[in-house]
Amino acid sequence: MKFYHKSMRRLVSTRKKKKRKPDYRKIILVFAVIIVIIIVAVSVHSCQQKRAAAKAEAARLAAEDAKATDAIDVELLTPNKYSRPGIALKQINGIVMHYTANPGATAIENRNYFEGLKDSHQTHASSHFIVGLDGEIIQCIPTKEEAYASNERNSDTLSIECCHYAKDGKFESKTYASMVKLCAYLCHRFGLTEKDIIRHYDVTGKDCPKYFVEHPKAWKKFKADVKEALANKDWELTINS
Ligand SMILES: [Zn+2]
Repeated sequence: MKFYHKSMRRLVSTRKKKKRKPDYRKIILVFAVIIVIIIVAVSVHSCQQKRAAAKAEAARLAAEDAKATDAIDVELLTPNKYSRPGIALKQINGIVMHYTANPGATAIENRNYFEGLKDSHQTHASSHFIVGLDGEIIQCIPTKEEAYASNERNSDTLSIECCHYAKDGKFESKTYASMVKLCAYLCHRFGLTEKDIIRHYDVTGKDCPKYFVEHPKAWKKFKADVKEALANKDWELTINS
C-alpha cells in the first residue's frame, strides 16, 4: 500500500513537471507557419503589384500606339500621264480605301513608286493619300484632281492607300488610327458621311483592302469608328506643304 502510494505520487509529480515544460517543437512549428504565411502574403502582394504595373504599362503603350497623326505631309507628284494626269475632279461622292499589297513598304516608298511611273511607264497608278506604317499621312494628288486608283470611280472619289506589315493585310494600330482620322477629316471637309466610304472591292470586286474584304466585321467596325470620330469632331489635321 505504501509502495503504491509512493509510485502514484511520483507519477503525478512527473505529469506536473511535464505540463510545465514548454513544447519547443510546437512553438517552432507555429513560428515557421507564421513566417511562411508572411512570405507567401508578401510575394503574392508584390506579384500583384508587378502584374498591375505591367498591365498599366501595356495600356499606356497601346494608347500611344493607337494615336493618329495630327498632320498631312503634302508631297505632290510631278504632273505626268502615268500617275498624275491633272484631270479635274468635278465632284467628290465618296472615299475609296485600298491596301498596298506590299507588306512592310512605307508611305514614302509608295509615293516615290507613283512618282517613278513618270519615267518607268510601268503602269497607270496613284492615290490621293497614303497612310504609312507609323500612321503618317502623305498626300500625292490634290483633291481637285483625279488619281489613278479606283477604276470607274476615279472620276468622283478620293482614294486612300494604306500600308501594312501583315501578310493578311491587317493594319497596325497607328495606321488604323490615322485612316480613321483622315476619313473623318475628308468627310467633314467634303460633306460626306461614313456611308460614303467604300472599299476598292466594292468598285471592282478586287481583294482590296484584303483585310476589310475578308473580315466584313472589321470593315463595319472601321466605318463605325469613322462615324464616332465625326460625332466627336475628331478631324483636325494640319497641312504640311
Ligand atoms: Zn485597291
